Amino acid sequence: NEQQARALVEARIAVIPDFPEPGVQFRDLTPVFADGPAFHALAEALTAPFAGRFDYLAGVEARGFLLAGAASALCGAGLLPVRKAGKLPRAVLTEHYSLEYGTAALEVHEGELPPGSRVLIVDDVLATGGTVGAAARLVERAGWHVAGISVAIELPELGGRARLGDRYEIYSLLQY
Ligand code: AMP
Repeated sequence: NEQQARALVEARIAVIPDFPEPGVQFRDLTPVFADGPAFHALAEALTAPFAGRFDYLAGVEARGFLLAGAASALCGAGLLPVRKAGKLPRAVLTEHYSLEYGTAALEVHEGELPPGSRVLIVDDVLATGGTVGAAARLVERAGWHVAGISVAIELPELGGRARLGDRYEIYSLLQY
């Protein structure tokens, strides 16, 4: 259940001070991925709050792919890869978003899912919300519905939840 998942995952998260730049406390999930029971529990915990309310999972490149891929296999839902710009071979929709320095862009194939599909967006960390916000705009522009946003870790001081507003249901297993 959720409490067990929280304990298993929390015990494995590595915190790296000043990576990739001074002042950032980087939360590294690779030790969670390396621990079979912890990874399984995390993948289950990310979809449980939305059970019966989504048709597909969207994973944001790159760490969101690992979580959404595992969760998809566990719950039997299909997967939508939300990729960095320039990687997808067919016609795409593009959303730009701001990073601390500069901008980045995410893309999905247009028409990848049936119209009106309910899509649960999955990523590792919710910080400012720029990344999952761009993923949510892509889902909506493509003609699908955002069932929710689910992340392993939320950093509330960075204001992601506030910036995303009341439009989306947001779940995080852990908050720091
Ligand atoms: P944001 O767009 O600001 O919400 O940032 C979220 C993205 O940046 C996620 O895809 C994370 O992988 C990464 N990220 C941001 N802050 C951290 C952090 N403190 N530790 C690990 N990853 C982070």
